[in-house]
Amino acid sequence: MKSVEAPVGKVDVAAYVIPTSSPESDGTLEWRATTLVTVEARAADRVGFGYTYADTATATLIRDKLAGLVTGRDALAVTECWDVMVREIRNLGRPGIASMAIAAVDNALWDLKARLLDVPLVRLLGTVRAAVPVYGSGGFTSYSTGQLAAQLRAWVEEGIAQVKMKVGRAPSDDAARVRAARAAIGAAALFVDANGGYSRKQALGLAQEFAAQGVTWFEEPVSSDDLAGLRMLRDRAPAGMDITAGEYGYDLGYFRAMLEAGAVDVLQADATRCAGITGFMRTAALCEAFHVPLSSHCAPSLHVHPCCAATPVRHVEYFHDHVRIEQMLFDGGARARGGRLAPDLTRPGLGLTLKRADAARYAV
Ligand SMILES: [Mg+2]
Repeated sequence: MKSVEAPVGKVDVAAYVIPTSSPESDGTLEWRATTLVTVEARAADRVGFGYTYADTATATLIRDKLAGLVTGRDALAVTECWDVMVREIRNLGRPGIASMAIAAVDNALWDLKARLLDVPLVRLLGTVRAAVPVYGSGGFTSYSTGQLAAQLRAWVEEGIAQVKMKVGRAPSDDAARVRAARAAIGAAALFVDANGGYSRKQALGLAQEFAAQGVTWFEEPVSSDDLAGLRMLRDRAPAGMDITAGEYGYDLGYFRAMLEAGAVDVLQADATRCAGITGFMRTAALCEAFHVPLSSHCAPSLHVHPCCAATPVRHVEYFHDHVRIEQMLFDGGARARGGRLAPDLTRPGLGLTLKRADAARYAV
């Protein structure tokens, strides 16, 4: 390992809008495209690469405010850079765009630091496991029953033992959709995600119906802001069904409130939202303090490293849209084998390189 003292040089940001493979929806949102915001941070002869999935406003904030803040600072001092960025956005509000912008820069700085030290990021963070289980995630409410069954079955056939579908758009249809999914996947673990689409009473009733189909994970049965509702479901849902939430968490205060309320059996967090790998690793420590497991949300190519370095991690979400984009546009993009993701230990950092020629057509 080389000893390095290198200031952060040029920080470049770009945004790409990538159409989905077909129109997609969940319990409370519809979309036809995904926006990827990338950051490249240079030091010495290395380039760190990080990203978030967020609005193009994130790219503007990085370009106009954050890039200049980290330029010239010690590229090994990731926490100093993080602190400076968090202080700077005080008046903009910590959740939302600001935290996603910080996340993209922080992720690039972690990658840069690992590249400067010439180690895979997982080794820099401190390896706790060689590989992490994934769950296949998609099953959109926009899918026909046939599409739903085919997507979930394909994951199971490639060795992924747990799969997640969306519910919550048309509650009266959901029990039947879940039965169709169960029929398609045999004995594999079945997760559902309502994205806050149900009322408390609807969620309570459907929890029984889903349990009859062996559903073991009920994500955002009610709004993630309804901590008392989540807690009530956690207390009253059938044994063996985890109540989960946390994907809209941007800071430690949010996660602490959710954990203190006893609202979740498993906390979810997203390093492209919660101010990067720095925020994600701190969230993992918080989970340890509360004895609650952690599951990463989306962006599997990014999460594989921190999730192999954070003790309380249970699994990584292998989200259809992001798996597709990351395999299409990143050299080194996540590819599960035997239902698990392992960091590529032959490459430094996150082990990702943007395929510029392929990405160019989506640039905005
Ligand atoms: Mg979700």
